[in-house]
Amino acid sequence: VPEPETPLAERPREDVERLLSVDDALARVLAMVAPLPVASLPLLDASGLVLAEDIVAPEDVPPFRNSAMDGFAVRAKDTAEARFDRPLTLRVHGTAAAGSTTRLAVAPGCAIRIMTGAPLPDGADAVVRFEETDEGRLNGPGVVGVLRSARPGDNVREAGEDIFRGTAVLPAGRALRAADLGQLAALGFTTAPVHRRPRVAILSTGDEVVEPGAPLPFGKIRDANATTLAALARGWGAETVALGIARDRLPELTERLTNAADADLIVTSGGVSLGDYDVVKDALRQSGEIAVWQVRMKPGKPLALGRVGGVPLLGLPGNPVAAAVSFVVFGRPAIRRLLGHADLQPRSVEATLIEPLDNRGMRRHYVRALLEPGADGGWTARPAGAQGAGVLSSLSRANALLVLPESIEQAEPGMTFRAILLDANA
Ligand code: AMP
Ligand code: MG
Repeated sequence: VPEPETPLAERPREDVERLLSVDDALARVLAMVAPLPVASLPLLDASGLVLAEDIVAPEDVPPFRNSAMDGFAVRAKDTAEARFDRPLTLRVHGTAAAGSTTRLAVAPGCAIRIMTGAPLPDGADAVVRFEETDEGRLNGPGVVGVLRSARPGDNVREAGEDIFRGTAVLPAGRALRAADLGQLAALGFTTAPVHRRPRVAILSTGDEVVEPGAPLPFGKIRDANATTLAALARGWGAETVALGIARDRLPELTERLTNAADADLIVTSGGVSLGDYDVVKDALRQSGEIAVWQVRMKPGKPLALGRVGGVPLLGLPGNPVAAAVSFVVFGRPAIRRLLGHADLQPRSVEATLIEPLDNRGMRRHYVRALLEPGADGGWTARPAGAQGAGVLSSLSRANALLVLPESIEQAEPGMTFRAILLDANA
């Protein structure tokens, strides 16, 4: 058993007794972070990242007037007399293929065979689809029989009909989705100005914690948190840096934290409770600004906040569900702010409880829950299994965190609560 670095009697406890509401704790977390600097990233690397500037179209999309169908380019008024039972014949004066760079023209009484995406010949103002012609079958390939009159504009895509040059296409603050990136590509952009992706360094602590692939001697447990927390952070759009597992000793902890100098956020798990070997808080106290709080929530009461070498640090509890839930509640908004999102709220729905739940202690209780579609078009919620702070299997089973407010000691069937959706947030 390791000796704590500092004799127990000398270890300050006063700051770990500070009580904080979830909302106040979140405000303190958010005060530590700001949107990251802007970088010009290749479009595919910018996927999911937040645009830092308004984008104005530098050119028209499509760039030229073209055919929306395979058919014949015509002058609409030439086809006024065309009927299904009385085909109107036009002489075919060539073919316009997509990608062709020659400018063609349609003379009166003539048509040009045209493919989807080919430039519309000068003089033409409509395209008659193959299906509305005889495709040259009645009078030979040089003559087409038109079976229906065309109106100007039929099957024609105008230059700029999708995006006009000079219009605002994507606003700053927009999280770039696939179609946004495609639009930027269509406009000729190869990069996008976005807030760069946050680097989140993740450290596990505890003499009992070993790597998942290592032998498991008596008294040890495998590190679940590093994987859960990294997967969460990546799902929210961050890169992760693995700092490994630190023993419950100050020098090793501080040593590992020095590897986080270029991170945007350090996330630790364990070592922030009131136990004898909970040294994260001591380490942080040594390296400067740090506070340890007792947050009025369940699971996940202890929370450390501070900076190490200027990098913001979020110290989560060690129990796997407490760590994961605290990370959803505090880490996700912090990472979203670093990413440049304005909306930091989790996606949630209202759900009706169908089993009683007790909330003794009156903390904000994040209940691992199963949401199911209800009869009235809403959602029903019930616990997804045992709610112990270490029981990761019920978090794995849950599709939501049902939020019982601090003001409720006993929740009854029929009451409705907010439920944080885990598919989008965890
Ligand atoms: P602590 O907050 O360090 O006292 O840890 C609380 C509980 O969480 C203890 O039972 C630890 O063994 C457990 N724990 C801490 N870190 C991890 C981890 N990385 N993976 C799984 N369990 C952990
Ligand atoms: Mg520990």
